[in-house]
Amino acid sequence: MAATYDAIVIGGGHNGLVAAAYLARAGARTVVLEGRHKTGGAATTESPWPEAPEFKVTRLSYVMSLMPPTIINDLKLASHGYKVYPMGPYYQAFPEGGSIKLYADDAKRNYESVSKWSKNDAETMPAWDAWLEGLADVLGPMLLTAPPNFGSRKPRDLAGTLKLAWRHRGLKVRTIADATRLMTMSIADLLDDWFESSQVKGALAVNGVIGTWAGPYEPGTAYVMAHHSIGDVGDGHLGNWGFQEGGMGAVSSAIEAAARGYGAEVRVNAPVSQVLVENGRAVGVALENGDEIKASTVVSTLHPRTAFLDHVGEKNLPSDFAKDIKTWKTRSGVVKINLALSELPNFTADPGTELGEHHTGSVEMAPSMEFTERAFLDAREGKPAVRPFSDGVIPTAFDKTLCPEGTHIMSLFTQWVPADWNLEPHTSELEAYADRMIELYDEVAPNFKASILHRDVVGPYQMEQEYGLIGGNIFHGELSLEQLFHMRPAPGYADYRTPISGLYYGSSATHAGGGVCGIPGWQAARAALADRKVTKSAKGQRAAG
Ligand SMILES: Cc1cc2nc3c(=O)[nH]c(=O)nc-3n(C[C@H](O)[C@H](O)[C@H](O)COP(=O)(O)OP(=O)(O)OC[C@H]3O[C@@H](n4cnc5c(N)ncnc54)[C@H](O)[C@@H]3O)c2cc1C
Repeated sequence: MAATYDAIVIGGGHNGLVAAAYLARAGARTVVLEGRHKTGGAATTESPWPEAPEFKVTRLSYVMSLMPPTIINDLKLASHGYKVYPMGPYYQAFPEGGSIKLYADDAKRNYESVSKWSKNDAETMPAWDAWLEGLADVLGPMLLTAPPNFGSRKPRDLAGTLKLAWRHRGLKVRTIADATRLMTMSIADLLDDWFESSQVKGALAVNGVIGTWAGPYEPGTAYVMAHHSIGDVGDGHLGNWGFQEGGMGAVSSAIEAAARGYGAEVRVNAPVSQVLVENGRAVGVALENGDEIKASTVVSTLHPRTAFLDHVGEKNLPSDFAKDIKTWKTRSGVVKINLALSELPNFTADPGTELGEHHTGSVEMAPSMEFTERAFLDAREGKPAVRPFSDGVIPTAFDKTLCPEGTHIMSLFTQWVPADWNLEPHTSELEAYADRMIELYDEVAPNFKASILHRDVVGPYQMEQEYGLIGGNIFHGELSLEQLFHMRPAPGYADYRTPISGLYYGSSATHAGGGVCGIPGWQAARAALADRKVTKSAKGQRAAG
């Protein structure tokens, strides 16, 4: 006899765990099925060096920012170990000498730091911050909005479209123009309109290209910057960027503890091979080992290609939907380099291996927009970047749980290698790429190379094979304009429902993903629970009638 639950969640990444927690909290008998030996997906803490298990790295994602207070509070995550240390400033040391620090919330120190490079830019900075804040006030609440199915005549969709229009009735011509610019411009063009110094523009451009198969001169990258800069999603202020104690795996563990606390079961080593569909309805899943598990609600949080093309199968899907998923863009060219260090980087511009403020935030290697653009152009021409860019962090500036005292962990989020490196391991080329990345830091911090005790290089192939990130895209799909809001993951199905009744979808490939924000999982659970209520009351009425 197949085991039976009220709800099955496929994938024990953080979104799957959030969905399970909400479903279980609402009283549904829920099971999470995770294919790997552990939960967390891309929010994971691991010990990649068998010879040095005392070092733990936050292997893929590395900083928190976008999780809304609603989820943190609903699931009481703080009581399960959710604890985030706010990050220090952006820091870039320049090969030609000098450095810049950019502070998220200290206008005076921003002025001092930026005016070393351009007085005009220092004076412009408060207006830029205010401009971004104004736009974030509009875009932030959209993150918690389930996108309406524009064009649909169903009453629920029409109501959603009207509600959205009504909410924005007060927008001024200027705000709409600014939002249009943000959605369509390249981050480089936008920054050129505001700033003059290459140092300031280089630092500000980084957020426009994180995880993106696009250099800073590509249209749409201005929006990516905004996605990473949003402060308030309408239910309270998001934290500044910060480091979770214990690495990102501890975020997943906190959510898992909450889910288990509400009664959810979590199974690892339980890869799903198929969603069972009968008469257009999901009725359960089959595992790779042949076991079947039944439930009338199934939530998938896997990459859309796996969730729909592999697990549901084209024959069960409308052809236009299947085509949308087949043409889903899912490139990144990201390589994650995790390092164990014997001491902190000693920057020529800010000397010393004692912990300094410049070690506590992003320790960047993106000295100018042209530098970053060149790295992208190399990859688009089919070769790994000769001089890759890096968004580096040293979480152990705060978090003492990841490594022995006196040592440090540094995490380098780097780009780009060619988009098709998900197809082959490219092991030796990745090692050479990592060498070049390390050399770049060594140029500005000459003790860097010698301080490396262990290193772990994770490229697109490993991300796809081991973590299910198809194409190596860090968000289960690019944050390009044609894949946002009502188009994420496909037009007509952006409300966390799918063409299969009873099957919901809550991965980072839906609106508000990617990132470790939990919103897709939360929304998918809400959609499932709302429909269950409808079904239950309709059944009740029928029975009563
Ligand atoms: C290198 C890198 C750096 C990043 N940095 C950041 C960052 O600093 N901050 C941030 O907010 N976001 C970051 N992200 C993005 C963020 O980590 C992801 O958007 C997010 O973790 C995805 O969560 P998810 O639950 O939607 O999917 P996933 O985490 O991908 O979870 C899906 C789960 O499904 C499992 N699975 C796959 N196939 C099957 C199957 N057949 N059966 C059962 N289970 C299966 C997988 O093992 C996985 O556990 C980064 C991502 C990467 C890769």
